[in-house]
Amino acid sequence: MSKGPEPLSAPPGETPTDPLAHIAGALFRPMGADGVYARTALYELVAERLERYITGQRDAQAEILRFPPVMSRQQLEKSGYLKNFPNLLGCVCALRGSEAAIHAVVDRHGAGEDWTGSLTASDLVLSPAACYPVYPMVAERGRIPSGGLLFDVEADVFRHEPSRNLDRLQSFRMREFVRIGSPQEIQDFREGWMTRASALAAELGLPCSLEVASDPFFGRVGQVIAVSQRQQALKFELLIPYHTEATPTACMSFNDHREHFSQLWAIHDERGKLAHTGCVAFGIDRLTVALFAVHGLDLEKWPPPTRLALAM
Ligand code: ATP
Ligand code: ZN
Ligand code: MG
Repeated sequence: MSKGPEPLSAPPGETPTDPLAHIAGALFRPMGADGVYARTALYELVAERLERYITGQRDAQAEILRFPPVMSRQQLEKSGYLKNFPNLLGCVCALRGSEAAIHAVVDRHGAGEDWTGSLTASDLVLSPAACYPVYPMVAERGRIPSGGLLFDVEADVFRHEPSRNLDRLQSFRMREFVRIGSPQEIQDFREGWMTRASALAAELGLPCSLEVASDPFFGRVGQVIAVSQRQQALKFELLIPYHTEATPTACMSFNDHREHFSQLWAIHDERGKLAHTGCVAFGIDRLTVALFAVHGLDLEKWPPPTRLALAM
């Protein structure tokens, strides 16, 4: 049996002196684009154990949904993503027209010319976060029951932010617990998770801090929105330094959307009041890289509590 390709000679990792460069070759294989990597068996073993560990933390009431990497363009537009993060969005495009017209486009490529100008947008986008499809789905069902709703969702997501850094991928896995309910229920959910997340990181042997954060809203107007988001403390992040000198990486986020999504989709409680929504996001790939960066490539040498938590 073939051992597969050799580790990357120039591994993804910012510079040759990047302290993560030594692990990159064992975890990833290049696929010809920055921030898009094939994942090795070693990497996937840990990612799978991490997913199971997160599943172990799930509330029994949660409804489980797994989404494909694409979603309705119209739904994402309505969610406000195009307005807030147009620079990060990836849209699915396709060739349309008669057989002859499509052949003509393909022939242009054959002649070494650009063919992509003939693409037209389809009704799909690449999902930029796992929770967007939940809100219209819930709205379709009518008023939410008392006590609210809880979901466990996951998707392969895309963000157009090419980078050579191992913690900034273009295509990565996002797992989320999503809560829909009263303002108090969202607050309790988010605060409960912020307390728990630090305990989970400690169990996994990962140093961390919790900090107020903002989303990268686009442009100058976006900066104003980001300041307001921070002032209202609507987003927190769990930050993990990959090595001693590293700028800490946001590996989880805790988001209070207030009535943003419920207003857009008309999500009401039993008495007809607008619901609130919130979500806790686990960056599966950032957390997996964090485990290798902090504990090394030899799983046998990982701290016993970490091995126990991950059932290794
Ligand atoms: P950052 O500030 O680092 O760009 P973010 O605020 O965009 O992060 P969220 O939108 O809250 O992150 O996404 C949820 C989680 O998804 C993050 O906590 C992180 O773990 C993960 N994530 C976000 N962007 C990336 C990326 N480019 N590559 C890998 N994981 C990511
Ligand atoms: Zn979310
Ligand atoms: Mg970001």
